[in-house]
Amino acid sequence: KAKAEQHGFEAEVARLLHLMVHSVYSEREIFLRELISNASDACDKLRYEALTKPDLTKDDPEFHIEIVADAKAKTLVIRDNGVGMNKDDLKANLGTIARSGTAGFMDRLTGDAKRDVQLIGQFGVGFYSVFMVADKVSVLTCRAGEDAAYLWESDGSGTYSIADGDKAGRGTEITLHMKDDAGEFLERFRLERIVKTYSDHIAVPIRLAVSGADEQEKTASGDEEKDDAPVNQGSALWTRAKADITDDQYTEFYRHVSHAFDEPAFRLHYTAEGMQQYSVLLFIPETRPMDLFDPARKSRVKLYVKRVFITDDTSGMLPGWLRFLRGVVDSQDLPLNISREMLQNNPVLKRMSSAITKKVLGELEKLAAKDAEKFEAIWSTFGAVIKEGLYEDLERREALLKLVRFRTTDGDGWVSLADYVGRMKDKQSAIYYVTGPDEAAVKRSPQLEGFKAKGVEVLLLSDPVDDFWLQMVSDYEGKPFKSITRGASDLSDIADGVAKDDKDKAPEGELTVLATLMKDVLGDAVSDVRASDRLTETAACLVADDSAMDMHLERMLKANNQ
Ligand code: ADP
Ligand code: MG
Repeated sequence: KAKAEQHGFEAEVARLLHLMVHSVYSEREIFLRELISNASDACDKLRYEALTKPDLTKDDPEFHIEIVADAKAKTLVIRDNGVGMNKDDLKANLGTIARSGTAGFMDRLTGDAKRDVQLIGQFGVGFYSVFMVADKVSVLTCRAGEDAAYLWESDGSGTYSIADGDKAGRGTEITLHMKDDAGEFLERFRLERIVKTYSDHIAVPIRLAVSGADEQEKTASGDEEKDDAPVNQGSALWTRAKADITDDQYTEFYRHVSHAFDEPAFRLHYTAEGMQQYSVLLFIPETRPMDLFDPARKSRVKLYVKRVFITDDTSGMLPGWLRFLRGVVDSQDLPLNISREMLQNNPVLKRMSSAITKKVLGELEKLAAKDAEKFEAIWSTFGAVIKEGLYEDLERREALLKLVRFRTTDGDGWVSLADYVGRMKDKQSAIYYVTGPDEAAVKRSPQLEGFKAKGVEVLLLSDPVDDFWLQMVSDYEGKPFKSITRGASDLSDIADGVAKDDKDKAPEGELTVLATLMKDVLGDAVSDVRASDRLTETAACLVADDSAMDMHLERMLKANNQ
């Protein structure tokens, strides 16, 4: 037998493992959720590959997950007949921190063990969580369609080994040599409870066999195990009736499909039965996914066809400005053998996508009306992304303008455009806004002074996207958007109810002389110097021409050398 190769873990992994090994996290049971989740993903991946290469699953067509506990040997085995891993896969997947969730976890580590341990619950740490309960882990695995099997082993210290393995058939078998204080995870009752709690929604049957201390030795033959009823329901969650699904089950499903560990802030579950048939189970996360502002703008909603997983790279299926959605869309109408490439321009998919987008928008609008607080929490987290739709999705612009919320000079809350227009001043014809790099900077804009003095509300915009959609969207219900840093905003027409104090007003002639003097001194740096109503405290401020670019946009473009 060939000698095992030794490999060092990536430094980040070593740090993470150190934390796991010494963890005092009280909910260690989540390690099983992670292993089952991986096993189920592996089955999904192979089921998809087998659509075009049916030979891959011919000899063993039923996907399943088995959990075998042996209290005497103190081992827990999790076995699947999914896609498996070859040597390169093993090194890439179980030696580095590839996944964004874990990377996010690492970023948050403080070095304070107590606090860091709390983060395990918030992020989950995937496969590496096994080292909370096991002092040695073996992964015996064979990639579907390949002959060689490999044995990966580690005790969670700095290194792991990979040796040639001996395994009949494809898939992965993970053996945990349990720590002395982790015996509870070898008991049937406990294991059943954990599977039901976290993994009931998993669409692959999970079977449990327990032997050792309190049980008869009845699991010797593999055939017998296969007759056991699965512990989980084994039907895809989105195909079940809403009434039969608890909030906890939805949450666990959300965490599984999105590889996230927060609570969903919103969910949408329905089945369309018209011209097209499909099921939708979508979630809005509570916190921003790590890759939210990646230029790739990847959508992560999973596409299934007749309950077969097709892909989780569904960019183009739903619009980019909804890329924070997580969950599943399952179509009855797309061909099962559709390739990921063919999805790009598929008309069936296009129609379905547009109907789903409309539904999501409609539900968000309903939520805004019914539960403003909940909607605003979602808006605070994802509004900056949704606003991208204002400039790139002409078809939805009207609907989106109803949804957008802004900070304004009037209080600390979120304000809709309808609210704003509803309290516009007499003779005020425009929706005034100011943009800047952040909320604090925007609030300090000297140009705001005159507006504040007159009680004219101004939208305070500080998302980078704001400058872009304002280039494209000219008005809301006939009221133009107007930057307060641009041109001669005609404040003088707007009634303020405050009597003008004429003795504060500088005589017209003196102002003209002053302006001419200043123009002389400033030369080409300015195109004009004018008296203005817009300041009350500050002596002077810069404004852009009506026809010129907004000042903040100009600064942003300059910063990017454009
Ligand atoms: P994640 O599941 O979020 O990708 P994990 O740490 O749970 O992160 O797993 C890391 C990777 O290891 C997975 O993405 C997968 O490629 C691989 N992997 C883990 N378990 C299995 C398994 N049972 N079968 C095949 N591949 C697996
Ligand atoms: Mg995982």
